[in-house]
Amino acid sequence: MSGVHSEVPVLIIGGGPVGFCLALELAFHGQRSMVVEQDAGTGLELLAKAGTLNERTMEFCRRWGIVNEVANAGFPEDYPRDTFYCTSLNGHLIGSSPMPATKDRKPPPSGPEMLRKCGQHIFDPLVARAAAATGKCEIRYSMRFESYSQDADGVNVELSNVSTGKRFTIRAQYLVGCDGSTSAVRQQMGVALPGRQLDYSVSAMIRVQNIEHYHPLGKGERYMFIDKAGTWANMTTVNGVDLWRFTLLGSEDKLDLARLDMRKEINRALGRDDIPYEVMRVVPWRRAQTHAVRYRDGRVLLAGDACHTTSPTGGHGLNTGIGDVASVGWMLDAVMSGWGGRHLLDAYEIERRPVAIRNLGNSTENYEVWLDHTGYERVFDEGPDGNSSRRAIGARLAAALKQEWHSLGIGMAYNYYCSPIVYPDGSKAPPDEPSTYIQTSRPGHRAPHAWLPDGHSTLDLFGHGFTLLILGSNPPDTAAFEQAALRIGFPLTAHALPQPDIAALYVRKMVLVRPDGMVAWRGDSLPADVDELLDIVRGSPAGANRQRGHMQDTPALRKTA
Ligand SMILES: Cc1cc2nc3c(=O)[nH]c(=O)nc-3n(C[C@H](O)[C@H](O)[C@H](O)COP(=O)(O)OP(=O)(O)OC[C@H]3O[C@@H](n4cnc5c(N)ncnc54)[C@H](O)[C@@H]3O)c2cc1C
Repeated sequence: MSGVHSEVPVLIIGGGPVGFCLALELAFHGQRSMVVEQDAGTGLELLAKAGTLNERTMEFCRRWGIVNEVANAGFPEDYPRDTFYCTSLNGHLIGSSPMPATKDRKPPPSGPEMLRKCGQHIFDPLVARAAAATGKCEIRYSMRFESYSQDADGVNVELSNVSTGKRFTIRAQYLVGCDGSTSAVRQQMGVALPGRQLDYSVSAMIRVQNIEHYHPLGKGERYMFIDKAGTWANMTTVNGVDLWRFTLLGSEDKLDLARLDMRKEINRALGRDDIPYEVMRVVPWRRAQTHAVRYRDGRVLLAGDACHTTSPTGGHGLNTGIGDVASVGWMLDAVMSGWGGRHLLDAYEIERRPVAIRNLGNSTENYEVWLDHTGYERVFDEGPDGNSSRRAIGARLAAALKQEWHSLGIGMAYNYYCSPIVYPDGSKAPPDEPSTYIQTSRPGHRAPHAWLPDGHSTLDLFGHGFTLLILGSNPPDTAAFEQAALRIGFPLTAHALPQPDIAALYVRKMVLVRPDGMVAWRGDSLPADVDELLDIVRGSPAGANRQRGHMQDTPALRKTA
C-alpha cells in the first residue's frame, strides 16, 4: 500500500441512496464523512429501481431538511396510485386495488409525513446534492474500494482510481460499506450473504406518451399481467407522466437477453402492437431474499443492500436501508464524540438484522402471491364462466396483496425491544401487522408522533442526543436525571409536554427517546439508579453487564429469548 493520502472520520463506500443518506445523517450530527463511488457521478443512468419512499423514510428526510424537495420532486399530485390486474392493457380486466392520488391523501394520524413516489433517478442525485451541500461530506467519484485493514484506532482503506488504476490509501475512524448487493466491503469482511434466490427478472425502462389513450383500464400506478401460470410481468409508472418500468419475471434461461424479444413481450402486455414507445434501457437483475450473517467487523460496518436484499414486492429495500442509516448514524456519532460506550456498535446489528429479516420475509410473501396461479385455468375464457373466474382471482389478489400496497406497519412498527441498549419494562407489544401501525411508547419502539401547539411534531424534538420527555400536568422532578447526564457528558435535552392528549399517548410521565427517535426507557418515577440506565442506553460496558441481569428478570424477554 502507498502512504496515507488523507484522513476522514467516516469513509462510506458506495454513493447509492443509502451511502448518501448516511452522509446526511452524519452531517445532521455534525460529523464529517467521505463518500467513495465507483461511477463517475450519480444518476448517470436511468435506474429501474425504487420508486416508493415510505412514511418512516420521509420522516428522516424531514430531519435532513429535504422533505419538501422530495415531495415536490415532480411526481404529479393528482396521479392515481391504483393497481390493475389484467391479462393485458387491452385484454381482460381481472380486478384492481384502488389507491388515492397524493392530493387525496394525508399523512397517517400516527406521523407527520406521508408515503411519496420519487424514483431513484431523482432521489439519488437529490440526496447526493443535499449531502454535498451540508459542507460535511466530500464526494469522490470514479474511485473504487479495493481493500481495508484495521487496527485499534482506525481503518486503512485502499482505493483505486477507476480511470488510471492508481491506488491510494485513506485512513478513517470507521468504514461503512453501502456498496450494494455485491458489496466488496462485505466480501472483504468474509461475511456470507445466505438466503433464497427467488427469480431472475428483466426490467425495461420505456417512454410512452399518454398510454391511457391506448387502453380502457384508466390511469394507474401499476398493471400486473396475468396468464394461466400467474403473474408474468408488470408495468409501473416511474414519473407519473411518460416513463414506465416494465418487468418480466422468469428464469435466466427463459429470459436470456441474447434471445429475448423485449418489444414482443411489451406488446403482449400492451395487448396491441401499434402503440409508439421507446425502450430506453434493459436491465437484468436477480430477485433474492438474502441477509448478511454479520453487519460488523470491528470498525467496519455494512448498511443497505450490502447486508440485505429483497424482492421489490412491497418496496422495502431502500426503505430498510434508510432505517439502517438512522440507526448506525447516531451510534457512530456517539462513539466518535466520546459519550457512546464500547458496546454501542454491537447493538446496530442486534437491532437492525431482525428488522431486515422481517421486512424481507414480508416481501417474499407478497412475491409468492404474484406467482400463485391456483384456479387460473379459465382466466382467458370468454363469457360468464370466464368473467366469474376473473372476478374471483381479482378479489383474491386484492385481498392478499393489501399488505403490499398498504404497508404502514412494515415501515413504522418494527421495534428493538430486545436490544441490549433498550431498557425493557415487561410490557406487551402491540400486534406487528404489515398494514397496521399502533403508536406506543413501549421501549424499543418508534416514539409516537403528536402535533405540538406550535405546529411541529413531537418527532421534531428528537435527533440531537437523547431527549427526555416529561409528560402531563403533574411532572416529576427530573433534576437528578439531568445532573447524571451532565456528569458523564451524555447529551440530553428535556422537554416538558403538559398537553393531556400527548401525555395519554405516551402513557408514562417520563420517556427517554434516542437520537433515532426510538424509545430507550420509560417510567413514572426516576429509575433507582440513573447512572445505570444511562450506561445501558449508551452501550457502556458497565450498563451491558447490568442489562444482562435485567433481561433475565423480564418475563417477556425470557419467553422470546
Ligand atoms: C425493480 C426494483 C424496484 C425497487 N423498488 C423499491 C421501492 O419502491 N422501494 C424501496 O425501498 N426499494 C426498492 N428497491 C430496492 C432499492 O433499489 C435498493 O434497496 C437500493 O437501491 C439499495 O441502495 P444501496 O445504496 O444500499 O445500494 P445501491 O443502490 O446498489 O448502491 C450501491 C452503490 O455502491 C457503488 N459501489 C459498488 N461497489 C463499489 C466499490 N467497490 N467501490 C465504490 N463504489 C461501489 C455502486 O456503484 C452504487 O452506486 C427496488 C429494487 C428493484 C430492483
